[in-house]
Amino acid sequence: MDNSLAYLQACLDRSLNALRVEPPLRCSEWAAKHWLLSNESSPQPGPFRAVPYQIGLLDISAHDNIPTVVVQKSARVGYTTINTILTAYFHIHKARNTITYNPNDELASEHMQARIKPAVRDVPILERYTSGLGTRKVAKSLNLNNGTILRSLGGASANNYRAKDADVVIFDELDALPTNLGEGDPVYLGRMRTMASPRPKLIMGTTPLISGESLVESNMASADLRLTFKVLCPSCGSRESIEWGGADGVEGLVYEAGKPETASWICPNCQSVHGYEYQRTLVQSGRWESKEGTYWNNGEFLKATDSGCEVQPLPRSVGLFIWSAYNPRQQWSEICRVHHLSGNDREKIQAFENTWLGKFFKQEVITIEPDPLYRRREEYSGVPADVLCITAGIDVQKDRLEAHFVGWGVGAESWSLAYRIYMGDPVRNEVWEDLYGDLEEGLPLEDDGAITMPVIQALVDSGYHTMEVYAQVRSYGERILMACKGMSTIGSPLVSVPKLKDREHRVRIVRVGVNNGKDSLYARLALADVGSGYMHFPIDAEHDYEFFRQLTSEEKVKVKRGGRMVYTYEQIKGLSNEVLDTSVYALAAFKVAERKGRTKSRITMEGGGRIKSRIGKRSSSNADVVPVRKKSSNFLGL
Ligand SMILES: [Zn+2]
Repeated sequence: MDNSLAYLQACLDRSLNALRVEPPLRCSEWAAKHWLLSNESSPQPGPFRAVPYQIGLLDISAHDNIPTVVVQKSARVGYTTINTILTAYFHIHKARNTITYNPNDELASEHMQARIKPAVRDVPILERYTSGLGTRKVAKSLNLNNGTILRSLGGASANNYRAKDADVVIFDELDALPTNLGEGDPVYLGRMRTMASPRPKLIMGTTPLISGESLVESNMASADLRLTFKVLCPSCGSRESIEWGGADGVEGLVYEAGKPETASWICPNCQSVHGYEYQRTLVQSGRWESKEGTYWNNGEFLKATDSGCEVQPLPRSVGLFIWSAYNPRQQWSEICRVHHLSGNDREKIQAFENTWLGKFFKQEVITIEPDPLYRRREEYSGVPADVLCITAGIDVQKDRLEAHFVGWGVGAESWSLAYRIYMGDPVRNEVWEDLYGDLEEGLPLEDDGAITMPVIQALVDSGYHTMEVYAQVRSYGERILMACKGMSTIGSPLVSVPKLKDREHRVRIVRVGVNNGKDSLYARLALADVGSGYMHFPIDAEHDYEFFRQLTSEEKVKVKRGGRMVYTYEQIKGLSNEVLDTSVYALAAFKVAERKGRTKSRITMEGGGRIKSRIGKRSSSNADVVPVRKKSSNFLGL
């Protein structure tokens, strides 16, 4: 055979190969054979090498006879890659139609641009099935040349569930979707889309949010089989899942309080300690297994019995839980460091539990009584030495302004410093001049009354006398005083600061999630130990019993809203709530100042001049000291 003939033969073989039907492969086998990671999706582009837990994730999710798969996961477990591979596998290897629902239209289009398109470019088999895609823009759907349609849609609109059928529906970040879209919940609507398929499949994955408000939580609870990734303890051979043990924990992933670098895993069976150097060995030995001992083994479920291993019937629905500690690229010390830095900050703890542990955050119902707070007032006046900066929250009433001045220390420990009422019509300038003078001058230091500490950030509620508030903020120039607007929508972040000024009013309007703020405040008020997050109050006339009645004037109640149960705050009859509102705004102002980087130096004023000192040293030395419970003194001597 001459060379040209051999070349022709080789070309012919290659084109025939492309058309040849592949023998059935499990998704993990298919991925090992075909998948290449793109620059956009991986820090290590190139051939895809599944980490042990990803093999089961792929194969269970892609199994023809398991109609429902629920995945509760933290960030940093490579789940987005898993989803992209699953989508490609369903289309190319199984000739199925898919719809992926993302939290909104924007993210749906990003999924196409940042995940699917690079995969088409870099994975040869996918490129062959989408010939001629080139630089064409892919919007909501992609037609493959085996006749299948790949869709990526926003899951928050009921419209996107109408008249679009598929064999496979995948939810990416299900918990970010509303639990009711008017016509039913997204899972129900998604399942309806697969009803015409001979092999309907629903895959829902999420980083969890709040317990009691989650579709993944309820679907996980009702799954026929729930699996975790269980590893073999190198010391005793017991099969255990890696659980979070926390600071000074006795088993699971633990670290010595204050020393995240001591991260290690303590076997719950034999209490042997295993450092991070064991992580790869542990994960390599792992398998997906239920509490009852049913485990996934190369395409089937097995269970050990007296007479050996028995194949188990396939469940209709499987729930899988995985978190960052299992990822071989994730340092355990980093997980512990994030936990350590979260301190008592409720928002940070929730973010840590959701995104690092893959756990639902449990909302607490808190009612606060004014009496114990009133009784625990302490002897201090002016600005105590531990205060690093001051913020203020301001409420506008018909005939007055009310301002709460709060000092902040390490770990957001706070000291209520002053509660001032400026009598006067807020439509006139005088009352604002008095307020602004106080903000600029600030309050005298406790140990040297000649020195004052000015307010670094103040937020004034613009819900009442709106135009007047905007005009005042404009005239003072936003450096200290900013307008804010309370948002009562459940789930609104504590603060969001717009980059641009509101075009109409020419001021930036800070949005304050009041539910979130009250959650945070009530959680702080409930703390008994002095330290990060703790709130101090002084014994003085401004902090009288009425102050505490107003501070605790709302009840946290559970109500049904839009078909779901939510927590909200309701004012107790007959009580005013200005102190509560101004406390929330002062806390929000602290968060705004933190974002602006203004809490990094301690500013004081002496003889008309500003003195700026870096905080670094002081705070780090304080952070290493375990907070000692100070005895608070008060007028009863208790
Ligand atoms: Zn052990």
